[in-house]
Amino acid sequence: MTDCIFCKIIKGEIPSAKVFESETVYAFRDINPMAPTHILIVPKAHIPSADGVTAENSSAVAAIFEAIPQIAKAEGLTNGYRVITNCGEDGCQTVKHLHFHLLGGKKLPESMA
Ligand code: 5GP
Ligand code: ZN
Repeated sequence: MTDCIFCKIIKGEIPSAKVFESETVYAFRDINPMAPTHILIVPKAHIPSADGVTAENSSAVAAIFEAIPQIAKAEGLTNGYRVITNCGEDGCQTVKHLHFHLLGGKKLPESMA
């Protein structure tokens, strides 16, 4: 999508600190980190949110979850981490391109809501 900030990052039109890339997945450091490690993992194909995942595009989501342990290992997250996706208004999603937050490097707060 032309006006999507993450599509622009994937295309290199907006700079990002890339940590992982494959044919279908791109991962980069969050510009406003909420933990010592805070990485965003996105499908290269524009999927608006978790609510837009279908049988046709879910292979990209599987590829993201295959990438996560590799990224976590490369980041030294040996003691665990958290993966989050915010969806829609109530989920406080701000960027409308599906992304998973990988957070770690400290003991994270227990509460999720
Ligand atoms: P959401 O609230 O939609 O789940 O998360 C969007 C995330 O994208 C936020 O954590 C925000 O800091 C991050 N973000 C927004 N714009 C940019 C950007 O231009 N570059 C990077 N690296 N992260 C961004
Ligand atoms: Zn997009």
